Amino acid sequence: MSENFSPFIREEVKSFKPYSPGLGIDEIKHKYGLSRVIKMASNENPLGVSPVVQETITRNSGLAFRYPGANNPELCRAVAGHLELDPACIVCGNGSDELIDLLIRMLLVPGRDNIVAFDPCFSIYRLQARLSGVEFRQAKLNPDFSFNLKELLKLVDANTRVVFLTNPDNPSGYAAPASELDRFASQLPHGCCLVVDEAYIDFAMPREHYSMLSFFKNDSNLVVLRTFSKMHALAGLRLGYAILPVILADYMRRIRLPFSVNILAEKAGQAALKDSDFTRESLSIITRGRKFLSVELENLGCSVYPSQANFIMFQPPVNAGHIFQELLKRGVIIRPLDSYGFSHLLRVSIGTREENETLIKYMQEIIG
Ligand SMILES: *Cc1c(COP(=O)(O)O)cnc(C)c1O
Repeated sequence: MSENFSPFIREEVKSFKPYSPGLGIDEIKHKYGLSRVIKMASNENPLGVSPVVQETITRNSGLAFRYPGANNPELCRAVAGHLELDPACIVCGNGSDELIDLLIRMLLVPGRDNIVAFDPCFSIYRLQARLSGVEFRQAKLNPDFSFNLKELLKLVDANTRVVFLTNPDNPSGYAAPASELDRFASQLPHGCCLVVDEAYIDFAMPREHYSMLSFFKNDSNLVVLRTFSKMHALAGLRLGYAILPVILADYMRRIRLPFSVNILAEKAGQAALKDSDFTRESLSIITRGRKFLSVELENLGCSVYPSQANFIMFQPPVNAGHIFQELLKRGVIIRPLDSYGFSHLLRVSIGTREENETLIKYMQEIIG
């Protein structure tokens, strides 16, 4: 592109760095000459796509020439039926990422309003705020990664439109009881929403203790975000939904690009909601794997943070970067947390039993 355009790029846009995706399986295979690579870096479901959902996608592939239903009314009804809520409260999105972006653009006036969140938090909250030219305020988590809601509340003022929280939290796995978050929501000033990102809620036990859904009311200031990327194993298809007061849902549907959720995601999402065998099996694999990895990592001298999610954060007894690199050489990809500002910590997604055992075997070799 001609350099002459440079002065015309918005300053907010110029502050963006290229998105650096995690390492790919093929890249690692090639680099280290490996035939098999285990990816435990992105909190994906280790079981892969459910056979029932695969069959649905295949059966509907011939529909790809059609536009999806504008705003996906059928899918919204299915989600609402599943949650026993009014379909008017549901908006589906191209991943919850799209819904985060829409919330910011719908509610915040650039240069005037602000967003409050914890530090560290999911990077998309901050990036989309920056793109919108909206102030982003952050309060430190407690040293054990639990929520310091008092400090968070101190940052809220009359121009705060949104407070973002992730529960269970990423990257720590910490989860706050829903009653505590509901009390926090009731302390927010008029016109300020609490947005609780429940990407990992399906892995919390007991789920009812942590999910905000039972506190959701049409006249409350609560928004809940959910995704099909984790428990439902559809990260690559891009599907999420928001549960929000009808008035907000109505405006969000007006500004959303009408076809952002594609027709196969629409069909797959409905099949996934009904596929309770798959979710039951996933939950069982994840909870057993979480216990196994926590015990085994502790045995290796790691400090393991308690997790209600499908990943575990831990501090190894030796240099974290060294462990990450040595695991890579052996074909296991986990997640270093340098980008979150924690170079001494690592995050590993729970895998299948065999993947977890392989990880522990290699960790023994490396630390041993
Ligand atoms: C994985 C994740 C999501 C899911 O995002 P999608 O766009 O639905 O794939 C949302 N929030 C957090 C905190 C996550 O870790």
